Formats: sequence, structure tokens, C-alpha cells
Amino acid sequence: MKVTLLGTGDAIGTPKIGCRCPACADALDGVIWTHAHYDHYAGFGDFHRVQNRVPVYGLQETMDYILNYLYFMRPKRNVVETGVPFDLAGMEFTLFEVNHPPICEAAGVLVRVGSKKLVVTGDTNLSIPEASLEMMRGADLLVADAITPPGYNLNKHMDSEEAVGLGRRLSAKEVVLTHISHLFPPHDVAIKRWPLGFDMMTMEL
Ligand SMILES: [Zn+2]
Ligand SMILES: [Zn+2]
Ligand SMILES: [Zn+2]
Repeated sequence: MKVTLLGTGDAIGTPKIGCRCPACADALDGVIWTHAHYDHYAGFGDFHRVQNRVPVYGLQETMDYILNYLYFMRPKRNVVETGVPFDLAGMEFTLFEVNHPPICEAAGVLVRVGSKKLVVTGDTNLSIPEASLEMMRGADLLVADAITPPGYNLNKHMDSEEAVGLGRRLSAKEVVLTHISHLFPPHDVAIKRWPLGFDMMTMEL
């Protein structure tokens, strides 16, 4: 039996908002916004009491859009460019361009830690620019947008078959599907219907 525990902080939240103890200081290094869709930034408002201590990272238009919505907040603003690495919490991050119409600016995230490489596609369809695909190649772990099972005609996102095919083409060692919708059947049914050949997990990001 495998048990996954979610939401394991106590009632006031861990890290506790406003607390400077070593455990809390260790737990909130920064926020990276991949694109300006509501489900990807609205929860940031919950940080309103620590807003001056949280560095945020994102592309120019994404940052402008989100901080216009969150006009009452003053996080530490770090505008970054695609293809230009930045350091955060002892790791190297690089944003790369993906394709998530109708939004004009959407990014995936490459994280390097020592010799390990993690790639998060962010929200994207399969038409990812070639330069980005080169950066994504050979990931130890690819976290890939897969909003539906195969058979849906998608414009904004990948389905699970496309996401897994992408992982295979890019020689990812492991693939995790995320942004999962209710159009999938229950997990046990889905994993039998689409045996994917990877060490597969699904998770919410
Ligand atoms: Zn604390
Ligand atoms: Zn989106
Ligand atoms: Zn999304």
C-alpha cells in the first residue's frame, strides 16, 4: 500500500506566516511564475503578510500582468529572460519559451542541481520551440502538462500521450504528469488503459 499525505502542515500553516525561525525561513525561498493564468498565481495572495520577503521571478509581461492584479502586494520583483539562468536556493533555474495559446508569453522551467536536471514544461501544447526542446533534452525528471487522456482535440495543453511521447523523444529518465483534469478515469483505470513504459507517477503542481 502506498499512502500519499497532502496538506500536512498544522492549522496556522507551515511555514507560519511572518515567522523568522530557522524552519520557516528555510521553507519559502521564492516563487516562479510561468505564465499569467489565474490558477497559477491567485494563491500568491495568501502570502500577503510576507509579501516584502518573497522574491518572485518571471518574464516581463507575466510579471506586469500578475503584479497589476496583485496591486496591493510588494514582493521582490525579479524579471528574467528566457535562456538566461538565475540562482535561487542553491539551484540554477532557466526559463524557456513554450506555447500556450492564446496567451502570448508562457514559460517552462529548467532546474539544475549538481549533475541532476529537472524540467517542468509549464502549461504548453506540443508545439514547443526547437531551442527550448534542446534545453529540455536528457532530463532526469520531466514534469509534463497532460490535462487529458488521448482523444481530445487540444490547443492549449498536451494530452497524456503527447506528454509521454515528448518525454521519450527528449530521453527523459522519468516523467510525471501534471495539470490533470477530471477527464481522466480514476488513476487505477487510467494507468491500465494507457501503459506508458516510464516509471510513471501523477501529481498535482
Ligand atoms: Zn517558524
Ligand atoms: Zn495556463
Ligand atoms: Zn494552468
